[in-house]
Amino acid sequence: MIPNDFIQTLLTRVDIVEVVDRYVPLKKAGANYVACCPFHSEKTPSFSVSPTKQFYHCFGCGAHGTAIGFLMEHAGKTFPDAVEELARDSGLEVPRIERAGDKERREETDDLNELLLAAAKFYRGCLKDAPQAIDYLKGRGLTGEIAARFGIGYAREGWQNLAEVFPNYNDVALEAAGLVISGDGGKRYDRFRERVMFPIHDTRGRVIGFGGRVVGAGEPKYLNSPETPVFSKGRELYGLYLARSAIRDAGKVVVVEGYMDVVALAQHGVECAVATLGTATTPVHAQKLFRLTDTVVFCFDGDAAGRKAAWRALENTLPVLADGKNALFLFLPDGEDPDDFVRQRGKAAFERAIAKAVPLSEFLLAELAARHPPTSSEGRAALVAAARPMLGEIAAPVLAAILRRRLGELSGLPESELRDLLQVAGETAGGTPSPRGRLNNDGRAPRTGGFRAQVRRPPSLARQLIRGLLLQPALAKSLPFPRPDERTPEAATLTALVAFCAEAGGLLTTAGVLQAFAGTSHAAVLGSVLATAEDQHLDDVAIAAEVKDGLDRWWQQARRDGAPAPMSADTAPAEETSRVQQLDYVRRREAERNTPPIADVSDGRPAEGAAS
Ligand SMILES: [Zn+2]
Repeated sequence: MIPNDFIQTLLTRVDIVEVVDRYVPLKKAGANYVACCPFHSEKTPSFSVSPTKQFYHCFGCGAHGTAIGFLMEHAGKTFPDAVEELARDSGLEVPRIERAGDKERREETDDLNELLLAAAKFYRGCLKDAPQAIDYLKGRGLTGEIAARFGIGYAREGWQNLAEVFPNYNDVALEAAGLVISGDGGKRYDRFRERVMFPIHDTRGRVIGFGGRVVGAGEPKYLNSPETPVFSKGRELYGLYLARSAIRDAGKVVVVEGYMDVVALAQHGVECAVATLGTATTPVHAQKLFRLTDTVVFCFDGDAAGRKAAWRALENTLPVLADGKNALFLFLPDGEDPDDFVRQRGKAAFERAIAKAVPLSEFLLAELAARHPPTSSEGRAALVAAARPMLGEIAAPVLAAILRRRLGELSGLPESELRDLLQVAGETAGGTPSPRGRLNNDGRAPRTGGFRAQVRRPPSLARQLIRGLLLQPALAKSLPFPRPDERTPEAATLTALVAFCAEAGGLLTTAGVLQAFAGTSHAAVLGSVLATAEDQHLDDVAIAAEVKDGLDRWWQQARRDGAPAPMSADTAPAEETSRVQQLDYVRRREAERNTPPIADVSDGRPAEGAAS
């Protein structure tokens, strides 16, 4: 674990322009540096790097981040590796928090990895002497070469075969690794028996578990390792380690449901496939995949179960989607899995099917319209009500706008009206066209009785506050920022941002805050707000004044809507006090600017050790 304070300090010492320029030659353009975007193909530069905000942003595909983010996204480094490299360049040493038990835990997982690797070798060796398993694999059209590449093995029949590799068969670590089961009366036996074994690797190529496919009859047909200290099915994807470079080359990843699908696709030349391990796609899965590539194709059976699984994948992908990232859905003809499909029709047919995969936006609206046919007023209202929470999950502003427009077409409502409905439908007391609003007319108190849900502001005000806070995070400690509980992405981001900046210790910078939110559902909003903040006007006093003005307008509006302002006493001082504080703050900043403290270094960044 790397302490957050260190990340913040590191980002004040690093120059993102220098870091990016090592990989992508930059040209000066006004206050910024520009280049053709390394994350999407283009002829005219829309990739911009800001030396003042220490942040890059592409106006074409929406890619954005800090120097750390750039090394991760562009150079494919892990977070710790990116931090390590930047720290080395800046002459800093990365401190690590070793929490109680960390060392023991690390040693334990190292041990488990070793046990699992030994088991994988053993199973692989057993495959040669298992004609029934070899017949099964050959029947599936696999060559020995592919079987070797995926490390496929065989677990023989018998209860304690692993005792051959592990003389201390009673070692509790074997149980912790998920290899051995301790039954009633303490009798221990191998978890996997009479199964073709598919080792599961983590992103560093270490064996962390197994999937076992029964040969012949027997239940269950597929058996995976249990959750262990090194294996979690909600985080891991089968085949990802082997597919990494193919995914980058293909510019996409295909997500299937079984390990045989992954292996069969690779056998037929589709090497960019991975599989979930007996679970629906989780947000962690989606995030992992979108780190590697812009296009994720979810491939499912066309039957009811397949559509249900696809819907789960869609729900879990929404919060991690950024503009420029595409999720596509491919439904195979009824009863066919990718293994059957590619074996019978070949690679070209599979590629053609992928080319016709349905974009997430289309699948989302088609499915919602099928559930709530917009053929009556009630149906249209139900459609909007069902779409509302899903649209609220989307952090990608362009995609959200497109979906709103399409939803407007479907429901026959003009976008302006729809926008209002999507923000407050079901939240206000009676009188809204949503079914929930009507239910409230029976005299029960509305679901959210307070003024908060009714307080609505143009999104530009929330964005203005987000921008001010991003440029000067310390303002959160001195000014009464609201924490709105509306469910628009911007309101949610403002709430999270205020909480983070108000509570964070140490020195906060724009890049530091951005890095803290990297990979969260707020990252896209922060990126798009920051991208539109003009570098030449980054004057501390001007920002503080603008933020203060925005807050005044916010609280005035809140008061008009019947709210006491500021909204809650625990997060903000009384209004009069806060006004005095604001003035004080602005004056203090003005004074600071006129007489720079000695500690300031020439580039205007805080001096060494300022964070500690
Ligand atoms: Zn781009």
